[in-house]
Amino acid sequence: MLKGKTAIVTGSTSGIGLGIARKLASIGVNIVLNGLGNIEEVEALRTEISERNDVKVSYSNANMTRPEDIHKMVSHAAKVHGSVDILVNNAGVQFVSPIEDFPEDQWDTIIAVNLSAAFHTTKAVVPLMKKHHWGRIINIASAHGLVGSPGKAAYVAAKHGLLGLTKVTALDLANDGITCNAICPGWVLTPLVEKQIEAKAKQQGITVEEARSNLIKEKQPMLQFTTPESLGAMTIFLCTDAAATITGASLPVDGGWTAQ
Ligand code: NAD
Repeated sequence: MLKGKTAIVTGSTSGIGLGIARKLASIGVNIVLNGLGNIEEVEALRTEISERNDVKVSYSNANMTRPEDIHKMVSHAAKVHGSVDILVNNAGVQFVSPIEDFPEDQWDTIIAVNLSAAFHTTKAVVPLMKKHHWGRIINIASAHGLVGSPGKAAYVAAKHGLLGLTKVTALDLANDGITCNAICPGWVLTPLVEKQIEAKAKQQGITVEEARSNLIKEKQPMLQFTTPESLGAMTIFLCTDAAATITGASLPVDGGWTAQ
């Protein structure tokens, strides 16, 4: 039922977003890739996903800190693909520091990319979705949307805010054929998390393997990383008819992290 629809996946040049884009493309969804990255590598990725799945894949280099870029990305999607049926707000950045030392520019960037961008993309795609009385908006939040951790003031604030935005978007669009839900992953082994593992290994004078194992033990009863592919499968489920009345939900995929 999703074949031929179009999805914008923000931050899909790496990690979870790339996993979601690949999974959607594998069932025939046309994709707008977005994210930072080397232009040749992104072009290789774009061609590979398109050819492997026989779908249309385009790329927008919109910087999620800039609302004007976001509006251009949505106009590009409407022009090249005809419409936008699925929006996955996934782009995200992290910075860890005690609050008294937390740099103000890092606060501003994290709030812009992890929270405000989702407001701007949602606002821009809703008129397109309303035209077809169908749409799916999926916000990639985090276990940190539900609970806090030390040193992550901006990230935790942005992810809690994203869950609030998810609820209001769901309520505003309840009878427009459009659902909005948030997925709250625990640890996923991506460049965003690898950077934190490497920093901890250096700080504590331990190996990267030890730091990786400590990281997961500290938060998750299930000692297993969630994969980008499983988050792609969850995204697909939220786009199916079976999920037509799931809206405004925050769904943990976190190995039991927030069950404690
Ligand atoms: P990642 O670093 O692998 O990917 C982040 C993506 O966002 C990249 O494509 C990057 O280019 C893009 N991006 C960053 N800044 C941008 C900007 N200004 N404009 C446009 N694109 C930008 O990270 P990831 O782990 O795949 O994270 C993806 C999402 O999942 C984030 O929202 C993150 O908070 C969330 N998340 C990750 C984990 C985890 O354990 N990795 C857990 C919970 C939630």
